[in-house]
Amino acid sequence: MAASKTLARQLRRHFGVADPDGASKIASVLAAPQSDPELHARIVAAFPRFLEALGDSYAQLERDVTLGTRSLELSSAELTAANQKLHAEAMAQAGVLRELRETANRLLADSSRPPLTDEVTDLLTMSSLMSDLVRQRAVAETEVSRTRSQLVSAIENLEAAIVMYDEDRRLIICNSRHREMFASVAHLLVPGTPHDVILRELYRRGAAGVLASDDEATWVEAMLERDHMTAGVCERQLDDRWIRIENAQTPDRLTVSLRTDITQFRQMTVELINAKESAERANVAKSYFLANMSHEIRTPMNGILGMAELARGLAVQPEQREYLDLVLSSADALLVIINDILDFSKIEAGKLTLESIPFSLRATLDRSLMALVQKAKDKGVSLRTESDPRLLEQELLGDPVRLSQVIINLVGNAVKFTESGEVVLRLGGRFRPDRTFTLEVSVDDTGIGIPADKLGLIFEAFSQADASTTRRFGGTGLGLAISARLVALMGGQIDVESREGSGSRFRFTAKMGLAPVQASASVDVGGAVAARRGGAGATTAIAAAPMRILLAEDNVVNQRLALSLLDRLGHRAIVAPTGQAALERLDDGEFDLVLMDVQMPVMGGLEAARRIRERERGSGRRIPIIAMTANAMQGDREACLAAGMDGYVSKPITPVGLAAELARVIDRVPR
Ligand code: ADP
Repeated sequence: MAASKTLARQLRRHFGVADPDGASKIASVLAAPQSDPELHARIVAAFPRFLEALGDSYAQLERDVTLGTRSLELSSAELTAANQKLHAEAMAQAGVLRELRETANRLLADSSRPPLTDEVTDLLTMSSLMSDLVRQRAVAETEVSRTRSQLVSAIENLEAAIVMYDEDRRLIICNSRHREMFASVAHLLVPGTPHDVILRELYRRGAAGVLASDDEATWVEAMLERDHMTAGVCERQLDDRWIRIENAQTPDRLTVSLRTDITQFRQMTVELINAKESAERANVAKSYFLANMSHEIRTPMNGILGMAELARGLAVQPEQREYLDLVLSSADALLVIINDILDFSKIEAGKLTLESIPFSLRATLDRSLMALVQKAKDKGVSLRTESDPRLLEQELLGDPVRLSQVIINLVGNAVKFTESGEVVLRLGGRFRPDRTFTLEVSVDDTGIGIPADKLGLIFEAFSQADASTTRRFGGTGLGLAISARLVALMGGQIDVESREGSGSRFRFTAKMGLAPVQASASVDVGGAVAARRGGAGATTAIAAAPMRILLAEDNVVNQRLALSLLDRLGHRAIVAPTGQAALERLDDGEFDLVLMDVQMPVMGGLEAARRIRERERGSGRRIPIIAMTANAMQGDREACLAAGMDGYVSKPITPVGLAAELARVIDRVPR
């Protein structure tokens, strides 16, 4: 067995055995001491020192391995070769020692030999143990070096650039991505190079990220501080690339830096943000478009509804009345659809805010149900309300128009989808010590019900449980989507339980405030909603004393309609076709009130109202002005009030809506 050079050297030094086969020689002398008693005596004498030296060699080997781990060669191929060499050497030593052990075992076991001295026996036992240890080490080392080269290969194949420094800020290892990223200093990127040397060279070569104002020492210091003192993540732009730097400190004070090129990722993010913003802009544009469309549609609708209603009053033949009824109900149905689409787009654009005004639950309910009671009766379906009367007497703070809208929608659907049986509306709620009140409403019906797999869909916009329902029952599929959003705005929740064929129960909650005791009860809520959803159903007119009214309106159909409505309410009106004309008219004569269209040629209603208020300044007079507009966007009412107007009716104006607003404004404005 050929010993390694180191071992041969050791054998020569300790036992004076010079030939390369020294190990075999020693083994044979140990086996037969009488063959060379002198050498045998030398071996026995020198053995303890030999073992000591062997121990030292292993300690040295261990140190070398540790050092090797720290300053790993950068390529995994080189590393593997080095490992193989180490392994071969270890195996050679193990071979020598195995021979020693075998000889020792043979000697120990052979009882026919003259007894060995205790010293020799001990030495043999020790050498046998050593041989085992060396073998185990060789196996363990193979395992360690395999794992190590796997790690290096993993680091090498990372997309990210990685570099590791020791506690003295000397480079331990980096991968080729890192060398590519810092190509100008690649020659320095070898184990052992101090980090500041690398940085200084980078600075001199004009590294990306060096500013004209940086001096070398400050820049190097800042970079060292960033990489070694602060663990964490940062993103930096270097030339035209974006790099994400991630620094970490290991418990034994090594620094690991990971650099990832995120240029593409950032580009995608920017594109996503742009896409999102343009989608949002498109959505806002859509909602403005819808609001404008609704203005364009409402103006002629105003004419159709108003004139048809006037003509119906004059019609003598039953046939004429029937036709006009049909015109009115079709126009009403169209108006409901327009209002739904407008409401939905307003909510979607985040432009719908709720009012918080005092209102009576009973009045709201009565007016909401007015049209529906008749509809249910016509179908032979009973419509009942169950509620604690004390609750109905309660004055609440909230948005009665929107509350009413949800109730009308749910009860309307219940009546629509029920052929026989009953619809029950139940109201309850809980008062809280902080003067808030959670209203709880449920609507039960005995109608067609909703298939289980459609229950999750019906609160989505434009969705209907069954496409054929559109043909059978009509509807836009927007009602529940709007209701769900309104309920959410009112701080509540809406849900549904239903069995196909036997009926449905819709429930919702809404948070309200409690109105102060002397709250006004004069808000014409139900009327406004009933007028919105089905104008013909609302008939209560609130009379005001006869007035002289200046009507500023450019559209001829609307002029005629408003004149007739005012005439029927007992008022006298004079027309001005522009804001400018209205100002001149006001100079000429005495008027009790101005009914002002907002969009007029030459001078619009807002400008005219502002001028009227300017002229009145200091005179002690203030003429009431009511805006009359087809604009229905959030903020229009506020714009009118800010221009100095006192009230607001939205087109198409109805007899009830106009009368109520006239009465309200005259009542409120000091004259
Ligand atoms: P629509 O204008 O179509 O009634 P909604 O959003 O109010 O729109 O309702 C969506 C769908 O939910 C309806 O088309 C219908 O299929 C179903 N639905 C709503 N309420 C009821 C009910 N009480 N009974 C049965 N189906 C209902």
